[in-house]
Amino acid sequence: MRVLVTGGAGFLGSHLVDLLLEKDHEVIALDNFITGSPENIAHLEGNPRFTFLQLDAARRFDIDGSIDLIFHFASPASPDDFRRIPLDVLRAGSYATHNSIELAQKKNARYFLASTSEVYGDPLIHPQPETYWGNVNSVGPRSCYDEAKRYAEAVTVTYRDHYGLDTRIVRFFNTYGPRMRLDDGRVVPNFIRQALLGEPLTVYGEGQQTRSFGFYSDIVDGVYRLAMSDYKEPVNLGTHEERTILEFAQLVITLVGSTSQIVHVAAAVDDPKQRHPDITRANTILDWHPSTNLEDGLRASIEYFRKRI
Ligand code: UDP
Repeated sequence: MRVLVTGGAGFLGSHLVDLLLEKDHEVIALDNFITGSPENIAHLEGNPRFTFLQLDAARRFDIDGSIDLIFHFASPASPDDFRRIPLDVLRAGSYATHNSIELAQKKNARYFLASTSEVYGDPLIHPQPETYWGNVNSVGPRSCYDEAKRYAEAVTVTYRDHYGLDTRIVRFFNTYGPRMRLDDGRVVPNFIRQALLGEPLTVYGEGQQTRSFGFYSDIVDGVYRLAMSDYKEPVNLGTHEERTILEFAQLVITLVGSTSQIVHVAAAVDDPKQRHPDITRANTILDWHPSTNLEDGLRASIEYFRKRI
């Protein structure tokens, strides 16, 4: 297939590009490097099946030739980004979704939207199944991301139901691994960086909020399975590796072998208190079963970050 990946130099986007090339597809990656990095795709230079275009998917663009499949992965995704570059977050979920899905329609391509567990907001149901409608604050500090992704899902199902476009929607839960930005502000790079430097790990609030962590290789495998399936409803991809943030901080300190302490700082506004996916759909429909346990995934991530400190 000839495949387009927006956000192809990002953390997950670049891992997806690698998997697509391994599967013998031809790949065109777009990125404006607002949160992606040239380093994430540097190893692909000279690969005849890979093309990179530095452009902003939120501005109108066209691609020569046929395209069979479009993955829309471009978006900042860290809560720090929601404060730092909220308009770019909104534009990635809105304009860039329109631009990429219109291209899919024009090229008669399958369209794959990267959505998020943030569509469930601060959930009132645990674990969260795809049928849950969520508990989102539309005027809070996370709304630029949550609502943009909810809007992107609405755009996608509108093209599916009114124009017959062949679409897929994945909802990612917290995903981590090599190629995350050391300074992206999310809990995994923050804690690993702090532990490696011997600095205090900054737990926001009491640290009793939970997250479930998925390793990138499992997650992109699920993405590929969904893309190649004929399933058109949203699918959660995440794991049952649920930890409180306090437990997670202690685990990172242990695995790094660090002398860092833990400090509690101000809680984040609208921080979801518990997040844990129901992955029955991915298990049954895609026969997808994440296999990397948290300790192994963290060890690999720590090695990656250690070289970049
Ligand atoms: N968090 C924390 N310290 C940090 C960064 C994050 O305690 O230095 C917490 C944050 O409050 C949230 C969880 O870790 O409860 C996950 O945050 P992250 O920014 O990784 O992403 P989120 O899951 O909130 O989108």
